[in-house]
Amino acid sequence: MEPYTVEAPVLAIVIPCYNESEALPQSAPVLLSLLERMCGEGLIQNESYLLCVNDGSRDDTWNVICRMHESDKRVKGITLAHNRGHQYALLSGLMTVIDRCDAAISIDADLQDDPEAMVKMVEDYRMGKEVVYGVRSSRQTDTFFKRTTAHAFYGFQKKMGLETVYDHADYRLMSNRALKLLSGYGESNMFLRGLVPQIGLDSSVVTYERGVRVAGESKYPLSKMLALSIDGITSFSAKPMRWIFYTGLLSLLATLCVAVYVLVAYFGSRPVSPGWASIMLSIWGIGSLVLMSVGIVGEYIGKIFVEVKHRPRYAIKDMVW
Ligand code: UDP
Ligand code: MG
Repeated sequence: MEPYTVEAPVLAIVIPCYNESEALPQSAPVLLSLLERMCGEGLIQNESYLLCVNDGSRDDTWNVICRMHESDKRVKGITLAHNRGHQYALLSGLMTVIDRCDAAISIDADLQDDPEAMVKMVEDYRMGKEVVYGVRSSRQTDTFFKRTTAHAFYGFQKKMGLETVYDHADYRLMSNRALKLLSGYGESNMFLRGLVPQIGLDSSVVTYERGVRVAGESKYPLSKMLALSIDGITSFSAKPMRWIFYTGLLSLLATLCVAVYVLVAYFGSRPVSPGWASIMLSIWGIGSLVLMSVGIVGEYIGKIFVEVKHRPRYAIKDMVW
């Protein structure tokens, strides 16, 4: 007898797609045949399906999704009215399948994350895990630049008080219960990698090798990675604000020391030479500290601004189901 304690789920595979008309025709068949295999093994229900989320692509992606839906109804699609970015595309997909599946796995359209890991994810789910994180065991196929910047970001985030699962992006399985709990987080600034661990249900980790894109090029340039990282930190931690305070405290101490030195020099009747360099240095030094600090504070105020408006996080324009 199987050791499973949980029934075979209706599995939804959620795929955010931005300008993926080249990659999708290659990746969807791979995922469909994987679904078929898992159905055959009785691991999941026959009604399992793919949901492609078109994130306001400027290319042919939506037509590609509709055509695939025509020939295979297991491919479903929604299209957002506007490009909202990976996190919101993913969220809109997860919220769409919330009442239509028992478990959902999110994966990128380029299949850089090994789809085979899904088998293990579903097995863990059936042993009672509510969240299963896909973790990259190696990133040899990423460029050196991507790998080092990504690792630097993980380290930096951790220092800044943001707990994420190391080398886990958004490739994960979530049970229906986890999805329902996630839907209760009403914030506009979504950073799923930070939020999901906070839900705090029983979880496990599945490791896999990260491969290369099946087609097309990365939609995550350094600028978007930087934005995601800053968003992640400022959404989860007020530590940077405290660091501003400490920096201010330090520079105040330094100023006091200099003042004492100047006074001692003055009363010691050693004339203080008019130091152009030191004045310029301190003006620029303090100036940049102030600018940086205002920037960090501004980042948080910007967040408050976005949150108080309570705008919808995405708009679904059309759907094929
Ligand atoms: N993506 C998206 N909206 C965006 C940017 C990216 O939905 O604005 C999707 C993209 O189609 C892909 C996934 O997010 O399925 C990850 O993007 P990509 O593979 O380009 O990132 P990388 O793997 O290079 O970090
Ligand atoms: Mg990719």
